Amino acid sequence: MTISGAAVVGGVCGAPIKHSMSPLIHNAWIRAAGLDAVYAPFAPRPEDFETFVQGFRGGAIRGLNVTIPFKERALAAADQASDLASMAGAANLLIFEADGSIHADNTDGPGLLGAIAVQAPGFDVAAAPVVILGAGGAARGATAALLLAGAPQVRIVNRTVARAQALADAFAEKVIAAGDADLPALLADAGLVINATSLGLGGGEGPAADLTLTPETAVVMDMVYKPLRTEFLRRAEAVGRRTVDGLEMLLRQAVPSFERMYGVAPPAEVDARGMLLRILGEG
Ligand code: NDP
Repeated sequence: MTISGAAVVGGVCGAPIKHSMSPLIHNAWIRAAGLDAVYAPFAPRPEDFETFVQGFRGGAIRGLNVTIPFKERALAAADQASDLASMAGAANLLIFEADGSIHADNTDGPGLLGAIAVQAPGFDVAAAPVVILGAGGAARGATAALLLAGAPQVRIVNRTVARAQALADAFAEKVIAAGDADLPALLADAGLVINATSLGLGGGEGPAADLTLTPETAVVMDMVYKPLRTEFLRRAEAVGRRTVDGLEMLLRQAVPSFERMYGVAPPAEVDARGMLLRILGEG
């Protein structure tokens, strides 16, 4: 791999950043594509985030993925934003244009839709309501992408109902907020159920939703990917529902980021999923 003085520089920033799998994914693609490029992890001090970003104006870095806790501040730091990033109120990708401007985008939503297309082929987002468990940044990004993809209704169910309501208020009338007590009725005609809480991370129990109440055709997705087969997904499989895992979403959100930063598609021959599964001890 060549990294010359003219190398295209991309990266990811977050606090903390050590756990990020993005450098592994992007550098594997860079190597396979034979690019003069690099993708580096950054952990700016939270109080210095804006200074850190503004310093890259003019193209010192081509692009920067952004993760917890900076996604909202990344949107605010940009000069222009895609519809998706504006709707989501958060950006996970900043592109530093040669004219000095910063463009914000959000690839988490396309990542979610891409994962569904791969692991639940033929699923029609527009056919039935979606239930999202959780009301944090991930739920917000998912809501924006699902609405743009034609979901007839998005139902946000969260432990803290006020947070679900705030999310619903930020969107149009197609988004409703609810608490756990309403969940059984909301699951009964759901086409897609997504865990966007951190429940299940590290092998613990997932959200308490009774998945037997969902239609047989429903698809169940978990954004959590450690472990790959979360307790929530195992429960969905046990009642015969199709499932979509969070690792595929992670990989799919990286694809448009790579294309925007390096100007080429990730080489198809790289088995990035296999590489991550081995790293996660699942391979
Ligand atoms: P936030 O911290 O913004 O939100 C966390 C959500 O989980 C809130 O809705 C919170 O509810 C809920 N929650 C946390 N603990 C509990 C609990 N004990 N009981 C009930 N609800 C709980 O996180 P994000 O939205 O950024 O991320 C959510 C998850 O999605 C994380 O696991 C993250 O790793 C994953 N993710 C995966 C991605 C992928 O590519 N696969 C991309 C982005 C995120 P409350 O409001 O009541 O506190």
